[in-house]
Amino acid sequence: MDYFYIGIDDTDSPEGMCTTFLASTILNKFQENNIEIMDFPRLIRLNPFARFKTRGNGGVSFKLDLNQNIDLAKEIVLKNVSELSMFDCDNTNPGVVFYQGEITEEMINYAFRAIYSIITIEEAEEFASHIGAEIHKFKKGRGIIGSIAAISCPLEDYTYELLAYRHPSRYGTVREIDYDSVVKMDRKTTPETFENIDGKYLAIEPKTPCPVLYGIRSNSPEVLIAKDIVIPNEEIVDSCIFKTNQHTDMHIQDANNISELKQYSCYKIKGLVKDNPHIIEGGHMFFTLYDETGEIEAAAYEPTKNFRSTVEKLRAGDEIELYGGIGEQNTFNIEKFQVLKLNEFVYNNPICGCGKRMTSAGKGKGFKCKSCGKRIESDEKIAEKVERSLINGKFYETPVSARRHLAKPLIRMNL
Ligand code: ATP
Repeated sequence: MDYFYIGIDDTDSPEGMCTTFLASTILNKFQENNIEIMDFPRLIRLNPFARFKTRGNGGVSFKLDLNQNIDLAKEIVLKNVSELSMFDCDNTNPGVVFYQGEITEEMINYAFRAIYSIITIEEAEEFASHIGAEIHKFKKGRGIIGSIAAISCPLEDYTYELLAYRHPSRYGTVREIDYDSVVKMDRKTTPETFENIDGKYLAIEPKTPCPVLYGIRSNSPEVLIAKDIVIPNEEIVDSCIFKTNQHTDMHIQDANNISELKQYSCYKIKGLVKDNPHIIEGGHMFFTLYDETGEIEAAAYEPTKNFRSTVEKLRAGDEIELYGGIGEQNTFNIEKFQVLKLNEFVYNNPICGCGKRMTSAGKGKGFKCKSCGKRIESDEKIAEKVERSLINGKFYETPVSARRHLAKPLIRMNL
């Protein structure tokens, strides 16, 4: 069936604005003009490694039935994008896309490409013309890349996010949210809401000067009355619930082997730990993962905090499956991992009958005991079981404070 779709992206900058706030402002104007959208507005997260993203690489989209005043809807969107976008920032290049029709298979494929890989403005423009979409480029118009994807992205698994917006006079100041009320909300609504707090860290609160006071993430829109439990100590001027692909692992592709991994893409990949993890200056933890086709350096960076001490417990020979993506440094940034088979043995020189550990008597000459002089002809080391604190089959994930928008938390994985 044909509908009218609107996609908006790339309106904000690190200094301010947020495409969701612009979307919410547009929806208020729609309401004043009796224009209704179908379902919830959508917030679609795209490739986390896209070069020009401001923060979480998200685009928004709306769906309208054809009985709505489409011309007025277009006028409202274009007016608000041209008035409210952060045009002063070099990297803010808004793009608006209008599309009337059905979401086709090739549009769905485009959306996956925008999540899995990198698309150029030219490619997006060509694709828009191919599907008969109307594009509006502001400055370089890079936002059309994400706008087409936000319209086209299928949502089989999805979550919701309620975003509450601050009074403009408060932008850039410390957010005033009552911590205990967030703890209370979390206790009452978890696991239907998630990623609210992480110890003392208020995860609902962004750390940038954007208009968002907080965002509560959930499996259903109903539970978002959780907002009534949170006590803001500053004014909330507006709020809006988005349907989103956040926390669905939609960015994760199944990789068959290490040699097929590409930079700027995200995967789950099985392999063996080659060396015991080691930490480098700056507090970043690394180890090498390998299989019969190649190897890759895997990293738990400093911001992943305690997760690094979990990664540190891996040992050479452990079989694991990593989830994450390959970024700027060509290392695999781990989002979570599953232990498939722990290497529970170390191979040591034999213990002599006298109780002492024997030493090698030279290559091919077996072992000798320095204490009592006994000799063994065989070179074979003895397998000894080691205690492991990781558990076979178990998943381990980065803390909430270091988690990507798209990463599916274990709490959503029905484990
Ligand atoms: P916020 O999440 O705070 O709204 P953002 O992180 O989404 O901001 P944007 O300002 O939207 O950042 O910029 C992201 C830019 O990257 C947009 O122009 C978008 O069209 C583009 N983009 C999205 N996906 C891809 C991709 N796969 N390849 C290339 N460019 C992309």
